Amino acid sequence: MSDLIKEIEKRKTFGIISHPDAGKTTLTEKLLLFGGAIQEAGAVKSNKIKKGATSDFMEIERQRGISVATSVLAFEYRNHKINILDTPGHKDFAEDTYRTLTAVDSVIVVIDVAKGVEEQTEKLVQVCRMRNIPMLVFINKLDREGKDAFDLLDEVEQKLGLTVCPLSLPIGMGSDFQGIYNIWENNIQLFLEEKKQKVGDSIKFDDINDQSIDEAIGEKAASTLREELDLVQSVYPEFNREDYMKGDLQPVFFGSALNNFGVRELLDAFIDIAPMPQAKESDTRLVKPEENQFTGFVFKIHANMDPKHRDRLAFVKIVSGTFKRNENYLLVREGKKMKFSSPNAFFADKKEVVDESFPGDIVGLHDTGSFRIGDTLTGGEKLSFKGIPSFSPEHFRYINNNDPLKAKQLAKGIDQLMDEGVAQLFTLEMNNRKIIGTVGALQYEVIQYRLEHEYGAKCTYEPLSMHKACWVEADEKSEEFKEFARLKQRFLARDKYNQLVFLADSSFTIHMTQEKFPNVKLHFISEFQ
Ligand code: GDP
Repeated sequence: MSDLIKEIEKRKTFGIISHPDAGKTTLTEKLLLFGGAIQEAGAVKSNKIKKGATSDFMEIERQRGISVATSVLAFEYRNHKINILDTPGHKDFAEDTYRTLTAVDSVIVVIDVAKGVEEQTEKLVQVCRMRNIPMLVFINKLDREGKDAFDLLDEVEQKLGLTVCPLSLPIGMGSDFQGIYNIWENNIQLFLEEKKQKVGDSIKFDDINDQSIDEAIGEKAASTLREELDLVQSVYPEFNREDYMKGDLQPVFFGSALNNFGVRELLDAFIDIAPMPQAKESDTRLVKPEENQFTGFVFKIHANMDPKHRDRLAFVKIVSGTFKRNENYLLVREGKKMKFSSPNAFFADKKEVVDESFPGDIVGLHDTGSFRIGDTLTGGEKLSFKGIPSFSPEHFRYINNNDPLKAKQLAKGIDQLMDEGVAQLFTLEMNNRKIIGTVGALQYEVIQYRLEHEYGAKCTYEPLSMHKACWVEADEKSEEFKEFARLKQRFLARDKYNQLVFLADSSFTIHMTQEKFPNVKLHFISEFQ
């Protein structure tokens, strides 16, 4: 077997997604503890924006600092290299999370046993389903009173549109929580209350009717467990790796991240079943990880935290081949050759310059403004990975220059912040006014603050009541399109890449427009070919 293939087979690159507070940070930390990557709890910083801190610039800066530090957390476990890509939970940063999901090979979805499926989880799982990303579900906080396990499984199926397959089952819950039956490994892990924070004993069984189960958890709990296992077998599909890999089946685990309970089981099953780096479609062909030529794409750009240095860090996911330091690579969009003398690799607690990286890995490349989100780098071949789509923003505001002498700085600042994917810029066809669209209101403060501190430009906003941006697909020579363009003149704009966008003020408008102009297609996502 070639060394490259060995490296590929060792790697698992994934993201953890959840609604804020479900336990993503806690779980990440416990996974790193197993990998020996950190020594104590509390080492992983939450990337959460504190409630009520939305107008505090220091908080935004703190958040930006943390988001660089925790962008990629790598560790070794059972002879595998595991890369966890951080996904911000705050909904105002959802775009960032959507883009990160283009760079993962699988995800773990964390759900709070008491709160069940929450709004942010629904949105993120929807994105994963669109991309058929393999998903594992971890139901967390079993040490607390929560919903009945089977009700929760139903909720996961209905609200998230998943087909679940429980690979573990809780025995009791909250104050009656006794442990977990691990269907995948066929054993019971007991939860010892007096030893909280510690993993309890594990008892192995060959047969569910084994009397020692009754002795361990009591007759009543044992008979309930047997009934429930029967139910699992009759109601849920059996685990099948192929279906999981296709995104058609989602295994479910129960546990408590805080108490480190059920986490090792989750990690072990993850190592057994989660996909290694996968092939990726490009505009010309499917690119396989084991190909010799290096290829990769930029999924995240981060500005330097020090405003005096204008360089940025572009995060590149390696799709194929070996990435080497000081080698010439082609930035396909620009047709430009580039080489990198200090590519960064990421570990749990540091980043370091590396000579070589492999498919599944993320390298951080210093950049002075050449990269755009979605860019492809190759060893020379002209191919582009399917881009990273923009989603329709939910907030819109006009942006005005507040200092006529700084118009250039403002334009440059806006340009670079949009390249980073902080927000989207639309320019009205009618009068060239600029509109900033964002997923969350918090982004406006980030932009204003960064324009001032990094580019010396001042801006103000004006409210604009819009519902959605719709990317327009139509035959621009047709009479129907001309009529559409005439009627909707005031609402037509161009995005940063000169694509035509219709700004709709309500869902009713979208509906009526689609009815009236059936051949003018409206898309809520920028990529539709
Ligand atoms: P995140 O927002 O998803 O990253 O959530 P955190 O990991 O920060 O957890 C949110 C809160 O839930 C914190 O106070 C954690 O201590 C707590 N928490 C996490 N896991 C558990 C658990 O298994 N049991 C209990 N009781 N609390 C937990």
